[in-house]
Amino acid sequence: MSMQEYIDQAEQNLLHTYNRYQVILDRGEGVHLYDVNGKEYLDFVSGIAVFALGYGNREYNDALKAQIDKLIHTSNYYYNMPAIHAAKKLTEVSGMDRVFFTNSGAESIEGAIKAARKYAFLKDGSTDHEIIAMEHSFHGRTMGALSVTGNPKYREAFEPMIGHIRFAKMNDFESVSAQVTDKTCAIILETVQGEGGIYPAEEAFLKKIRALCDEKDILLILDEIQCGMGRTGTMFAWQRYGVKPDIMTTAKALGCGVPVGAFLMTEKVAQNSLVAGDHGTTYGGNPLACAAICKVLELFEKQNILANVNRVGAYLYDRLEEVAKEYDCIKAHRGVGLMQGLVFEQPVGDIIKRAMDLGLILINAGANIIRFVPSLVITEEDVDQMISILKEAIGK
Ligand SMILES: *Cc1c(COP(=O)(O)O)cnc(C)c1O
Repeated sequence: MSMQEYIDQAEQNLLHTYNRYQVILDRGEGVHLYDVNGKEYLDFVSGIAVFALGYGNREYNDALKAQIDKLIHTSNYYYNMPAIHAAKKLTEVSGMDRVFFTNSGAESIEGAIKAARKYAFLKDGSTDHEIIAMEHSFHGRTMGALSVTGNPKYREAFEPMIGHIRFAKMNDFESVSAQVTDKTCAIILETVQGEGGIYPAEEAFLKKIRALCDEKDILLILDEIQCGMGRTGTMFAWQRYGVKPDIMTTAKALGCGVPVGAFLMTEKVAQNSLVAGDHGTTYGGNPLACAAICKVLELFEKQNILANVNRVGAYLYDRLEEVAKEYDCIKAHRGVGLMQGLVFEQPVGDIIKRAMDLGLILINAGANIIRFVPSLVITEEDVDQMISILKEAIGK
């Protein structure tokens, strides 16, 4: 059967919740992907900010294979060594005190919301606490995560959401403080908005939010699912601002392809929120997933990933600035490290399709923005190659 025939078959069986590109990817190597016909693609998506270490990292793959032969799953009624090591390493690199392992980003948000509500419940015994979230935010597709996602289109058909959520504008402190009441228990935001269009939080904004939270004992939840794990040049994006969250979520690159996430908190929140029986998951923190986390964090250090992000991220920034100046149809260029976006006047779907034909994988963020979230091991040469294909795809 041809690739197209397999795609047609897939469309008979899969629930149609994605408009997929007409390609079946088969294998990966470094920053390249290959489809079932053997065509090579330079990948500037990395599975949406997941494959930080690139495809086919030998040490990572071997660690997973060894763990598969040893023990894949036990349940959270017992301890396992990979989870013990992963918890220690992850709390060390984040500066947070305690971690709960989940299976995805959305689940990490669910846990963060539950922890914040429990914290507030223990203070006054009431259950009408409010959470402030940002417009244009994206926190996931489960009901709790969707409730704090600032895109009405994603929420509309699934109402009612969980209650008592208010929305404010990112980087507009007055719009946030205007939503604060004596029922506010948490403020949640992505340190750099991903899906919503690559909007970094401004330092002054984050600092004012932190001060507001301290003053009113409101918990600051920072969603680092996309912008964390080195993507902006520090291990977590908030670490460059000198502002620490009370609760942090992570996922995507945390396992580099093994489905895993986590929410972390300070000791103060841990001592005053979730206790035994309050939260759980069958798979979360299983030995296979945690072996992946351990190896990822080890390789981040060993391969000096952050240095590469800072160097190549700055190079990508300069090259994209050039492109933005060259084309009238590009209205803005935003982002930091290896998380950047070009804002176009028109929808970017056709440019992305042409790039794909030319052997470059790109992704949008909203209709008009091309988002660049490559593997964190890309080089300047990869950037140059991407830029030349991108220009050809934009055309004119
Ligand atoms: C992807 C993403 C999520 C959701 O993660 P899933 O693993 O898809 O559930 C939440 N928040 C942010 C910022 C994301 O980028």
